[in-house]
Amino acid sequence: MRGIVWFRRDLRIHDQPALSAALNECREVIPIFVFDEPLLRSKQFGSACVTFMLNCLEDLGQSLTSLGLSLYWRRGEPIEEITKAARELRADAVYWNRDYEPAAIKRDRAVERNLIAAGIGACTYKDHVIFEPQEVLGGSGDPLQRFGAYKARWWARWRESAPTLTVIPKRARNRNLAGNRSRERLPSSKDLGYESVSLACHGGEHQAIRRLRWFVKGPLHGYAVGRNRPDNDGTSMLSPHFRFGTLSTRTAAWAALDTLKRRGIGSRQDVVTWVDELVWRDFFQQVLFNFPRVADEPFRPKAGLPNWRKSQPLFEAWCNGKTGFPLVDAGMRQLNSTGWMHNRVRMVVASFLVKDLRLDWRLGEKYFLQQLLDADLAANNGNWQWCASTGTDAMPGYRIFNPALQARKFDPDGSYIRRYIPELEKIPTKYIHQPELMSRREQDEYSCRIGCDYPKPIVDHTTARHEYLRLARSS
Ligand code: FAD
Repeated sequence: MRGIVWFRRDLRIHDQPALSAALNECREVIPIFVFDEPLLRSKQFGSACVTFMLNCLEDLGQSLTSLGLSLYWRRGEPIEEITKAARELRADAVYWNRDYEPAAIKRDRAVERNLIAAGIGACTYKDHVIFEPQEVLGGSGDPLQRFGAYKARWWARWRESAPTLTVIPKRARNRNLAGNRSRERLPSSKDLGYESVSLACHGGEHQAIRRLRWFVKGPLHGYAVGRNRPDNDGTSMLSPHFRFGTLSTRTAAWAALDTLKRRGIGSRQDVVTWVDELVWRDFFQQVLFNFPRVADEPFRPKAGLPNWRKSQPLFEAWCNGKTGFPLVDAGMRQLNSTGWMHNRVRMVVASFLVKDLRLDWRLGEKYFLQQLLDADLAANNGNWQWCASTGTDAMPGYRIFNPALQARKFDPDGSYIRRYIPELEKIPTKYIHQPELMSRREQDEYSCRIGCDYPKPIVDHTTARHEYLRLARSS
């Protein structure tokens, strides 16, 4: 039997259900990746994401070679390309791992229909999440909208049937399964119409595994507190790897939980707090799956503001990290220069866009998708709706982050701010969170004139907060 493995958001060989099944069932296995031409043209994702994906594919190609397989790629419309590839290569079946985004579900159904019509099998597997949307439901069988209730059911499910890891069958190793077809060089970012950019982290399964090992040995065991500090390496930075599937979430959850078996290291609270973040990831996947309308509209249409302000200059100041609020600006500049931003800072910049600037959260959501390495429709939309207080289980509308207070609390000596805003590098710590409080003499002394070297705050936070609350109450 000859099988095609269609790689998508699962660019690895460890714990890879579709690959394992194909290797178990087929005498010949052909791994394929399709560069989705319409998606690439839409520029929904940016250069950081595309560069990271190419790193992942390069690494995947090498891993597959070690199994005696070659990665083939095609460029075009995936429905046509996979159907064509299956026919041309005379495959008996195509294997892939499921995706839960509305557009992906539609695409996969069309591929499945075409394959079945051509007498070719379509075999699909759970992979991208730990529990699929229908596996964690409320008592009445309805999807859960509250994270607390979802988390309780998720852990109950884990205790009932913790996921097992799939292994690459040993007998497949060293067999020249794909015959002697030669592999074409992967395209570059430029070939795909994108720039090559420097990234916060390199893509690929080998990097992902190294990062996971480093994290579970160290920062995991101070995670409950350390996760809030953008100035420290206190989180895993594995999100881009989960996004492209260079790391299996099951493997990661087990690696964290297994540390509890080794006496003397870490606390249960740190480990469970971290795995709970993976539960948030599953939660937002099931929200998007069960309520696909959230991709375009607020989950709670009456929450938020009745009308959003329209102001290109305010939006551009936010995008470019030129708002005059150092924590917001550092976050946006980190995002623009590396494709990544710390979660605490993501919450602050999102609250600032929506509640201080009163701009539509969808503008921020779209900008994040274009810039983030971990750009993921479900997690991004869910978190933006959380920050905008329009989501399923969102931040209360009256809660508005004060960027200066957040910075004092989570970046107390301003080292994160200084890293991304060179203009503020020499400012004494007492002014780093609100440089506009410096006198004219101090501004000269530290070579940072406000309104010239670094912007004046584009809004007054207290006034903006009151205005938001007044408008939100009247809606
Ligand atoms: P860790 O703290 O080490 O957490 C482990 C993993 O849990 C993460 O890698 C991630 O997969 C998951 N996770 C953690 N926090 C969340 C969360 N709040 N929601 C869902 N999953 C979570 N995450 C994305 O993966 N893609 C996005 O496009 C995205 N957009 C966001 C937009 C906004 C406005 C906000 C506030 C958050 C967004 N997040 C997004 C969630 C979160 O910021 C990142 O997952 C996290 O910063 C990744 O860093 P880490 O890998 O070090 O996380």
